[in-house]
Amino acid sequence: MHTVVIGAGVVGVTTAWALQKRGHQVTVVERLPDAALETSRGNAGQRSYGVVYPWASAAMVGKALPMLIKPDGALKMGMPPSFSALRFMFETLRFAYAPGLYGLNRRAMLRLAMHSRETFLALENELSLAFDGEHDGLLQLASTAQAMADYRATYDLLQEMGVPCRLLSVDQVREAEPGMTGAGPLHGAISYDTDGTGDCQLFTQALARACEARGVAFRFDTELVRFLADGHQVQGVELRSGQGDNAQLSADAFVLCGGCASPALLSGLGLRLPIYPVKGYSLTAPLLDPQLAPVSTVHDDNFKVVATRLGNRLRATGFVELDDFNRDIPERRLETIRKSVASRFPGAADLSNATSWTGFRPMTPDGPPIIGRGPRQNLYLNTGHGTFGWTLSTGSARLIAQVMDGEVPAMNLDAFRPGRYAE
Ligand SMILES: Cc1cc2nc3c(=O)[nH]c(=O)nc-3n(C[C@H](O)[C@H](O)[C@H](O)COP(=O)(O)OP(=O)(O)OC[C@H]3O[C@@H](n4cnc5c(N)ncnc54)[C@H](O)[C@@H]3O)c2cc1C
Repeated sequence: MHTVVIGAGVVGVTTAWALQKRGHQVTVVERLPDAALETSRGNAGQRSYGVVYPWASAAMVGKALPMLIKPDGALKMGMPPSFSALRFMFETLRFAYAPGLYGLNRRAMLRLAMHSRETFLALENELSLAFDGEHDGLLQLASTAQAMADYRATYDLLQEMGVPCRLLSVDQVREAEPGMTGAGPLHGAISYDTDGTGDCQLFTQALARACEARGVAFRFDTELVRFLADGHQVQGVELRSGQGDNAQLSADAFVLCGGCASPALLSGLGLRLPIYPVKGYSLTAPLLDPQLAPVSTVHDDNFKVVATRLGNRLRATGFVELDDFNRDIPERRLETIRKSVASRFPGAADLSNATSWTGFRPMTPDGPPIIGRGPRQNLYLNTGHGTFGWTLSTGSARLIAQVMDGEVPAMNLDAFRPGRYAE
């Protein structure tokens, strides 16, 4: 069976890998010159299997206004807000207050994360990929007593779900992260010892090379213009090369892994995907002193900034911004990220000489990704992974491959069904 995968981000490339392992002849179509040059490029690097949760949460709505108003607050919005941003916010509110939905979605996402951890380990055992990856856990700091109380409540749910985690005192945090010598407020932390880190771009590009070695064809610099479909099936895709030449490619099945571009690519086929580009920023700098750097990855809840060690580099990431596809990188955002790192890991890295980046999380208004059959019999969707695409990629890839091969998927996919926004 010839399958075309659209998009060579981490989700598309892991999907291509899962499909070729099952005997599909796979072609990946990517508009950019290599894999992982869009959102999978500069993310926080956390494989946060214990820390996945839906975007739409009533608790977060309560905290949103102060985060929006404070200059260092993590939530930002383009002014005046666009129609798409307002629509996305209203849809988020609808899901946030739907009775029982947050709990159901959180459990479903945690199950998907646990499945992803298993599939990631299997892949790592099979291939030896260089991506500055480690399995040294993840710490979420509590900068207030209230944050620690919230972690205690989370701890109970995670215990019930079988997610390994521990509550740490201030001394235990200092022991786990000896480089954390900054004066930022600290009341303890929750530790996810089986979580990991890694450079998502390095991983995706290395996996793309492994796919190529196994016969997967990558058509880089090639844009999907539209699906060629009748009322039942997709027969092919219309492609445009970097030189502006159009061509058609036919296949038996198609998987859309287009991240934030997915809604536009699907338009005209009768299924609206309400994915919105939620912007974030990162700084990546060489370490100045490895002893002062994070051992693994640390979430500073004070500034909502994540600091991750990636080999001999430090990456610091923050902000949740609704401003459509605006790629500007304002200095004040980077200043907040630097402030956070200085308050936790002073002297670890030279952030004044860092590479800055911005990217767009492909966010659904409820939170779970979209995994399943799309609006035609042979068109499948694996997209909308929001804040957790690196974490959830390998599990999602295995699940969509199972669906495509007509198998019962390894877990219930109800929370991820593509048609849920039309119900
Ligand atoms: C600041 C920030 C921090 C993050 N931190 C983390 C983290 O720590 N852990 C985590 O798990 N996740 C994190 N994420 C989220 C994660 O990066 C994303 O969920 C993930 O990268 C999405 O992968 P994707 O393959 O769906 O999308 P993308 O990587 O955007 O890939 C989609 C691909 O489709 C291609 N494409 C689009 N249109 C076309 C077309 N017409 N024709 C051909 N190709 C096309 C694009 O060029 C792109 O390469 C973070 C995101 C941001 C922004």
